[in-house]
Amino acid sequence: DFTLEYFTMIEQDAVDYAKTRIDFFQEDAVLTCKEIGDGNLNYVFKVVDEKNNKSIIIKQAGPVARISDEFKLSTDRNRIESEILGLQHKLAPGYVPEVYQYDPIMNCCAMEDLSNHEIMRTALLKHEKFPLFPDHISTFLVNTLLLTSDVVVEHKEKKALVKQFINPELCEITEDLVYTEPFYDCPRNEIFEGSMEFVKETIWNDKKLVLESAKLKFEFMNHAQSLLHGDLHTGSIFIKEDSTKVIDPEFAFYGPAGYDIGNLIANLIFAYANGKFTIEDEETRDDYLNYLVTTIKDVVNLFTDKFNKAWDEKATEQVAGYDGFKEYYLDTILRDTAAVAGLELLRRVIGLAKVKDLTTIEDREARIRAEKICLAAGKTFILNRESIKTGADFIHVIQSAE
Ligand code: ADP
Ligand code: MG
Ligand code: MG
Ligand code: MG
Repeated sequence: DFTLEYFTMIEQDAVDYAKTRIDFFQEDAVLTCKEIGDGNLNYVFKVVDEKNNKSIIIKQAGPVARISDEFKLSTDRNRIESEILGLQHKLAPGYVPEVYQYDPIMNCCAMEDLSNHEIMRTALLKHEKFPLFPDHISTFLVNTLLLTSDVVVEHKEKKALVKQFINPELCEITEDLVYTEPFYDCPRNEIFEGSMEFVKETIWNDKKLVLESAKLKFEFMNHAQSLLHGDLHTGSIFIKEDSTKVIDPEFAFYGPAGYDIGNLIANLIFAYANGKFTIEDEETRDDYLNYLVTTIKDVVNLFTDKFNKAWDEKATEQVAGYDGFKEYYLDTILRDTAAVAGLELLRRVIGLAKVKDLTTIEDREARIRAEKICLAAGKTFILNRESIKTGADFIHVIQSAE
């Protein structure tokens, strides 16, 4: 019985659930189901009616993280994910899956099946190109970040949103894994043996860098600026040539707007590091690295252009029109973007949650060189964040680290 008490579903349960609890399939449907989750925290069931060629995704929050049962997580994150997807669907139409329903007892939601898209990380590791991506994602970022801020939203309404998206446990994961553990010899870290010396020397022994990480941690916890996705890496993006869909916003909460942008940029840099050390043919490699450089540059510059335009058209806050305020505000977002790009670059090398872009580099020396580039660039992004503003500035940091 799905209406009484929460339990974690298996495939057959998801079929029964789809039949009895979701008004989606036809009477004569013949349903099959596969659990396709590859994430760490949740179960993702794809339920298909082959007869009528219809399908649906049911995502259920599990009681513990698959990655480690040290993380016990409130299943309330599925409410957060369902509600923010609904809101983002309004703010940035076409850029998130449609949510059909949310079930607070089973802690699951039913949503649009996006199987005709590909996970962006997987596609980038196959060296696919998506020329429309910067245009798509910059619209998503401006619409979800600026349009949820006090610049646009009436302030009492914004405070109600802050409250609606209080997400203490998932924030704690970020506070630990991104802002704390990478900066000391934490037992939970998982450092590739060949990178260990470099981590000790250039990260843990750099007192100034460690101090900056502390400042950034407190900014993350205490700056309720925009409704963030909170986990915007390339594994949270479904993509195809003409379409970009952002999924998996269960870490959503009100935080610094630059968090999402910086997270994304770091993950594009991981794809760059992978390409640099795995594409053997020089011409193919140069071409693909150029594509990624252009992508990173365009994401930053298009974000800036669209942010300025949306501010001029949509700001409701009285002081938003003061001379210089928009420029000041955007500067702080770009500064935070650079800092978070740096933090994400460090934590995926040092911390326990890895990215395939680095771990699949088979040659030992190549992996060490790739990781050193990420660490060196990450450090520069954090220390020099005040002066990194344009797409070209971001690229310069990467190229100086090579
Ligand atoms: P987690 O929070 O556990 O990381 P995700 O939401 O990232 O879960 O989903 C895990 C995987 O399930 C995705 O990488 C994707 O392969 C698949 N998936 C998730 N949502 C959808 C969807 N709407 N359509 C098709 N596949 C999906
Ligand atoms: Mg995920
Ligand atoms: Mg995933
Ligand atoms: Mg997730």
